This record gives sequence, C-alpha cells and structure tokens, in this order.
Amino acid sequence: MNDMPEFATPETQGFWEGCAAGELRLQRCNDCSAWQFPPRAFCQTCRSNALSWEPVTGRGRLASFTEVHRAPLPEMREAVPYLLALVELEEGPMMMSNLVDTDASRLRLGMALEAVFGRPGLKRGPLPLFRLRDGTASEGT
Ligand SMILES: [Zn+2]
Repeated sequence: MNDMPEFATPETQGFWEGCAAGELRLQRCNDCSAWQFPPRAFCQTCRSNALSWEPVTGRGRLASFTEVHRAPLPEMREAVPYLLALVELEEGPMMMSNLVDTDASRLRLGMALEAVFGRPGLKRGPLPLFRLRDGTASEGT
C-alpha cells in the first residue's frame, strides 16, 4: 500500500491498512474473542495464533495524559506543546495517542474520547488521534 510506513511489519500491517483507510482496527482472537493492542503474533489471552483484524468503535476513555513542551525530535518543534494521552478503548486495550482540538485545562480522567485520523507533526501516514466526545466527562450515549 502507498501509505504503508516503512516500519510496518507483518504483525502490524493490518493496523496500518486501517489507518490508511481512516479506520481504527485491532487484533481479535478467532478462538477466544479477546481484543489486543499492540499487535502481536499470538493471542495474549489463550496463545492462539488465529488472529483477525477488525474495525472498532474508536471510542474510549481518558486514562492518563501529559502535556509535552520539549520536542522529542527536531522535526516535531512545530508541534509542541501537544497532549499525549493513554486511552482505554471501549473494547478494552489501552492505546497511547495524541489529543487534539482541546487543551490540558479542560481535561479530566475518564472523559469520553473518540478517534480521528491525522498526521501529528511527522511526515507519516494518518495516525489515530483522539478528541473529546461531546466535550463532557459524563457517560456518553
Ligand atoms: Zn485468544
């Protein structure tokens, strides 16, 4: 695929194909139905190697976050400050990502988030980013 990053591996290819299509996909075990992220060659729950890539809701909750003021790479100087978040996906796995369209003063743990796709700083294909869903911390519908 044209948008496949050079660091894609056979294990992660399904994830990157989803990103190129603007769709968040996670590995799911065909034997025990467990979801997992990051991608692995085997199911972390039952050790099966019968794994599929399935689209997920892209919804989750803010589990932790920090605001980054020092660019980790020279090409990211334009991007700081940015918000780094740990997102607990609705399906269970945790995902590290960036928060967009908000600022740290509005954030509270447990807030409802949703995935959007964009190119955060680096010249890479679209990546899943997260933004506040409905801008509230209450239980989303
Ligand atoms: Zn399994």
